[in-house]
Amino acid sequence: MNTTSAREALAAWQDSFPVDPYASDRQLRAILGRALDAERLGALEERASAFARQVTAVIGPAARRYEQRLHLPELARYDAIGRRTEAVAFDSAYDEAGTAVWASGLVALSGRPGTAYEQATLLYLLSLEGEAGHACPATCTIGLARALRRSADPAVRDRFLPALVDPDYATAARGAQFLTEVQGGSDVGANICEAVPAGDGDTYRISGEKWFCSVADAGQFFLTARVTGGPAGTRGLGSFVVPRTIDGSPNGFSLRRLKDKLGTRGLASGEIDFDGALAWPIGPVEHGFRTAVGVVLNTSRWMTAVGGAGMMRRAFLEASAYAHHREAFGRPIEEFPAVRRTLADMATASAGSLHLVFALTGLEDRIDAGTASAEDILFHRFLVNVTKYLLSWQATDVVHSAIEVLGGNGTIEEFSVLPRLYRDAIVYESWEGTHNVLVAQVLNDLRRLPIMDVLTDRLHRCLDRAGDPALAASVRSQLDGAFDVVGRCVADGRFGEWHFRDSLDRIGVLAEVAFLFEAGEEQAASHLLRAATPDYRPEQDESLPGRVDDLLQTMG
Ligand SMILES: Cc1cc2nc3c(=O)[nH]c(=O)nc-3n(C[C@H](O)[C@H](O)[C@H](O)COP(=O)(O)OP(=O)(O)OC[C@H]3O[C@@H](n4cnc5c(N)ncnc54)[C@H](O)[C@@H]3O)c2cc1C
Repeated sequence: MNTTSAREALAAWQDSFPVDPYASDRQLRAILGRALDAERLGALEERASAFARQVTAVIGPAARRYEQRLHLPELARYDAIGRRTEAVAFDSAYDEAGTAVWASGLVALSGRPGTAYEQATLLYLLSLEGEAGHACPATCTIGLARALRRSADPAVRDRFLPALVDPDYATAARGAQFLTEVQGGSDVGANICEAVPAGDGDTYRISGEKWFCSVADAGQFFLTARVTGGPAGTRGLGSFVVPRTIDGSPNGFSLRRLKDKLGTRGLASGEIDFDGALAWPIGPVEHGFRTAVGVVLNTSRWMTAVGGAGMMRRAFLEASAYAHHREAFGRPIEEFPAVRRTLADMATASAGSLHLVFALTGLEDRIDAGTASAEDILFHRFLVNVTKYLLSWQATDVVHSAIEVLGGNGTIEEFSVLPRLYRDAIVYESWEGTHNVLVAQVLNDLRRLPIMDVLTDRLHRCLDRAGDPALAASVRSQLDGAFDVVGRCVADGRFGEWHFRDSLDRIGVLAEVAFLFEAGEEQAASHLLRAATPDYRPEQDESLPGRVDDLLQTMG
């Protein structure tokens, strides 16, 4: 191969990315086809295909520009004639992408209860670009809109919600969510930012500092603050909405600086000082923490997991197409068994994550529509934390594998989307709950709530649909083994703190396997299961090469 044909092969790889990545996503379409009635599915497919084309044609190229160091957001504290604005200035490509994202309905749909399938599909498609520059603002806006819709007094809701669900990016208010303070992010109960009643019976004045404020350009901030005279810890926190401006001027806040971040760079994340900002409570202040976690954070955890699934899909598409076109030692690298195994592992992790996160999406849809059962609510409580935890590290792993498949080219910023996906995936691991904090939360929930029965029942029911009874029996016995260890973790505090994360890793992957079996994705399920089985010996598995070949043919 000479330099010309090597470049032609790279160009063929570049051109291989589908124009409509929704239409070519067999598994996603099958999931939606099973979950939705014909009318809802038809409307969603039309919306998803139109947006998928925008992601490829508009958002991808825009993100490639505004995510580069030279074009990052900048603090613009004063306007041209010296008035304080606390604004953030963005490259025009950022607004171009935002216009397409908002027009898709991703955010506007939050005005209607029970649109989780639509929103997850659109966010997944957006995340094929690793596009946290808008995925994060969209997620924060959806969380705030849901909090207002579900928890606020009607007057507060009607005052703030319409601007959040406006599909026109130029006129819409974006939402932000500020919980973290310098003395603690995970430990929200350590918040000291204060909310003092303003004296009119309706509003509060917020003072203090928030340390991580993404969407620093937002028109409305969701904010937790300690209500004067309230109890210590999380019980003393209220949830508030703070408009960015009052009568056209900054509402009692100043942006100290924007942070220089490893990933999600297109997004403006700042440190903000509040000094008497006017705030409206979202529901009774004594229920503030419940709203912050149960509505806002859980929405973000679900959407972060959806984003991770989208990144994994993109990483697999990039790597498998590259392996097809790239030659080394006289043959396409996809012919090397070692590369094929890597691709198969990526394909099954991507498929497992997609099925897991859409199982969660089904629960989100029913909870938001008010049709969820008591078991749904318990299962959601487990799944939302596990899925965010599991998918955020799996996304980093899968993107890392894709970079390996592309070799040196995989590390070059302008060569592919992968460096951006990798940097963003690492941020996804931290925000909305770090790994250990989510694991501790799940263990705590298992101790307090009757989740185990629901979990056992739901996963075993998925396996009833498995076509291969021997494999289904293997999953059941592995699940039962993992549940035994969980039982000990629940009963013995010290043991749980040391060992629960290992059992949760196993249960998470086995849940992915179970949902794959339920969906009839037998090849992906069996590959994922074998890879996760502790005593699996690939060198003794004569079916491995044939299974990998079959798998890669169906996972395109
Ligand atoms: C790019 C970016 C943007 C962000 N944007 C926002 C935003 O807009 N709004 C916002 O509120 N926050 C935001 N965050 C903050 C983020 O949510 C926090 O970083 C996160 O919650 C963790 O808090 P921390 O950084 O204080 O870590 P810490 O709480 O100090 O944790 C440090 C380490 O200790 C571990 N740890 C802590 N407690 C326990 C425990 N009980 N058991 C075991 N291990 C534990 C953690 O897992 C972690 O590994 C953002 C973060 C990033 C990176």
